[in-house]
Order: sequence, then C-alpha cells, then structure tokens
Amino acid sequence: MSAQLATLFSTRPEHLIPDFLKHLSRYGEPHTWRYHCHEPPPREDIQVLLRDFVVPEGLIPRVGLAKCPICSPKLPKYIKGHLLWSPITGQLYAVGHCCGFNYFNDGVLSEGLRQEKARGIRKAHEDFLLANWEKVAEFTAFADALLPRAREHDRVVRLLIASLSQKRANELYRSAGDGGYLTVVRRQAGAEEARGGLQGVRERFGDRPLQGHLILHKPRSAKLAEARLVNPATVLRFVDWRTLDNAFEWLCDQPDIDLKRLSDILGDAESGSAQVCAEMNALADFLVPENLQLINAWSRQQDTLQAEIRVFRPMPNKLTVWRGRHAAKPIVLHPNVDQPAPEPPALIREETPPG
Ligand SMILES: [Zn+2]
Repeated sequence: MSAQLATLFSTRPEHLIPDFLKHLSRYGEPHTWRYHCHEPPPREDIQVLLRDFVVPEGLIPRVGLAKCPICSPKLPKYIKGHLLWSPITGQLYAVGHCCGFNYFNDGVLSEGLRQEKARGIRKAHEDFLLANWEKVAEFTAFADALLPRAREHDRVVRLLIASLSQKRANELYRSAGDGGYLTVVRRQAGAEEARGGLQGVRERFGDRPLQGHLILHKPRSAKLAEARLVNPATVLRFVDWRTLDNAFEWLCDQPDIDLKRLSDILGDAESGSAQVCAEMNALADFLVPENLQLINAWSRQQDTLQAEIRVFRPMPNKLTVWRGRHAAKPIVLHPNVDQPAPEPPALIREETPPG
C-alpha cells in the first residue's frame, strides 16, 4: 500500500464504499477490488465497513461465486459477504458471510456493550446532577460569602508559620502526631537505661492534646484556602441554572465528558469547602490561650539546642510569636477568627457515585 493510501486508510475509510459497490455491480468480484487485501484479516479490532453486500445474481453465471480470503482464497465460495476494515493494519477485507459473520457478530456485540456502558455512565451523571442542580448556585454563593475570611485565614496561617519558622512549625506538628498529644524527648545519662551511650526517651507532654495543629502542616502541594474555594466556583459560575428545567435542558445538550467534568467539579467544590471550614475551625482552636500556653510550656521542656518558641495572645486581635530572643512582627487577628466556620453545602448522593 502506498504511503498516500496508508494515510487515507488511517481513518475509517467510509469514502471508499461507493467505489467498492461500483466495482461489485460492474464485475461481480469483490476479491478483485483494488483495495481488497488478500490476506486473512487480524482477529482483533475489526470494524464492519459495509454489511451484507451481495454479488449481483446476473453476473454469477459468468464470474461465479466470490473467493473468501479466510476460508477459501483460491476457490469460489460466497454470494453474501461483508467489507471489513482493520484500524491496526489499515487494510480492507471483502470476506464471505461464512467467516465475516464471526467478526461482524463480535463487533456488533462489543460495540453494543460499549454504548450500553456509556449510556449507563451518562445516566448516572445525569441523575447525580439533577439531584444536585441547586448545589451549583449554592457552592458559588458559599464561596463568595466565605472568600474574605478564607483570604484572612491564609494570611494568618502564612504569618504564623513564618514567625515560628517552617522548621519549628513542622516540629510542633510532628510532635503532636496522630493522637494530638505533644511529646518531648529527654536525654538519659543513666547507665542502665541508656545502653550504648546517651539516648533519648520520648514522653507524652501535658495533660491535654494540642488543638488545631493541623494548620501547621502545609505540604508544598496544598492549595491555599482561597484557591480551594475560588477554583471550583469559577467554573460553576458558567453553569447558569435558574430552574430545574434549565438544568434539564443543559444536561440534554452536553456531551458525556462535560457531564463527568461537572460532576467532578461539584465534588471538588464539596471537598474544598469542607476542608477550608475544617481548617478555619482548627485555627480558632489553635489560638485559644490555653493551647498557646501548652505550646510554650512544651517548648521550655524541650531538651534540644533549638531556640525556645513562645506564642502569646495579649489581646483578642493580636498574636505575638517569639523565637528565642527574637520577636516576630505581631499578627493582627480579625474578630471572626474565633467564630465557628459556617456549615458547607453537601452533595446528595443517592447511589454509587458515577464512574
Ligand atoms: Zn469464508
């Protein structure tokens, strides 16, 4: 096959069907068509280009039956056949119903299953989106309302971590571990306990767990609270549904992929809002004076060479952080920092989430 033809055949060559039919009606010999491949077609990935063509009856007395490249490449065999195409080999095959039927049947069946599966997924997305159609506006409004506080939250957390230093913030976060209790490492010089020299023993510190320490954990990949609210809302704003009918019409028009995208974005809006609210509550817990006292007492007990940290809240709207003798610039706190975060909207999930 020439390079030009190869290119031509790399997409489903529907345009060659008229040429094939012309050849068939004129010569009655599918196997002598110029694009017919005399090799048997591959077993996999065969598409039926033309189903149920028939050698013209009037020509049979003269040209005889057609040869099937699969079961009868030399001797005349069939009247009814199918024109197959392989996207893998790029070849076309005129084969008898004797053999083509297998490919054909398989092909139709798997195509049918594929379409059925796609329909099922689409239906699940449609159901999910219709059940949650009001959430599109709810999440957008929620993000708008919470945005100033989210920016404020990001600012305070950033300044707090910078004042403590990232290293000390991490240390505090790790020390609290999963249970939330701070721990201290004490060096032991006693010969019995410390086999092999000077060793540290980790002990639980304080009579209550540290609160809100999750805000100190900021992996590089973690987005700011602002971004987690704004990003999904920016997309949802384009979905301007005012009524259920609006939503229904929109869903009927959109391709499958957009239904999936919208479902995913609603999921992001839900998890993003919930995380942001949880972090706001964690910050409020962290800033409670007793919690700061716990940190300061812990830092004094740390038997390490690192600078002691002390965090104070001398006034409700002011936070000061000391690292050794160095005082960081005071952090101004907005009055809403102590208020509980609002309850974020939640999606309705009736059955298994759409795939
Ligand atoms: Zn055959």
